[in-house]
Amino acid sequence: MLTYIVLLGPPGAGKGTQSKVLASELDVPHISSGDIFRDNIKNDTPLGRLAHKAISKGELVSDDLTIAMLRERFMQRDCANGAILDGFPRNPVQAEALEELLNSFGGQVNLVLFITSPVKSLIERLAGRWTCQAQGHTYHECFNPPKEKGICDIDGSALYQREDDKAETVLNRIEIYQNQTAPLIKYYDERGILARIDGVESIEKVSAQLMSVLKC
Ligand code: ADP
Ligand code: ADP
Repeated sequence: MLTYIVLLGPPGAGKGTQSKVLASELDVPHISSGDIFRDNIKNDTPLGRLAHKAISKGELVSDDLTIAMLRERFMQRDCANGAILDGFPRNPVQAEALEELLNSFGGQVNLVLFITSPVKSLIERLAGRWTCQAQGHTYHECFNPPKEKGICDIDGSALYQREDDKAETVLNRIEIYQNQTAPLIKYYDERGILARIDGVESIEKVSAQLMSVLKC
């Protein structure tokens, strides 16, 4: 069966962290729109140059650019049996585009895992987030520290703090999430495919909740 799972939730809820666990458990790729944008910025591609301004201010990149980027990603063979989608869709226009895209090769969104946490904890998590340069693995200086400070446990690359994790940009991102992305909760709930996950608990306990939803 084709398995396309969307992780929905505010910035800092734990979508990236849990997507990696799910992708490895289900053996499907983890597609993070934020990671693809950051790779393009790092490699100074035309897409990276177009997206950089919006990302640095914590705003959403235009739907046209984002949807085209995801369409290209879905053309790759590794997505044929399923994928974990992290950070996409981020508004109803993108959700419709995703449905159309998946339908074009016989797929559909099977499950939406909505992870949430109070704003205070989102801010605390983003302020302490460290991301790896090479592949976007994430750590937290208190809740999930790397074995060696500043170095990724998995690929040995340097860790950095994202420009858009600064306190003032974080508040803007949370507001944008509330205005533009949160309507997707109702959108997917009405389709009967939304599962709510309490993201306040430890990383391991949140993973256990996700796994129990998958077994249902
Ligand atoms: P998102 O992709 O939703 O923005 P991340 O998965 O990158 O969120 O997590 C944000 C930060 O919070 C990271 O530093 C991560 O290590 C940490 N984190 C993720 N889940 C938890 C959790 N359940 N408890 C504590 N810290 C967490
Ligand atoms: P987080 O999980 O911390 O919210 P992401 O890594 O998903 O952050 O996204 C970082 C930034 O990349 C967003 O603030 C936005 O500027 C841009 N971005 C990522 N995904 C999308 C999307 N689906 N639509 C528009 N912009 C996006």
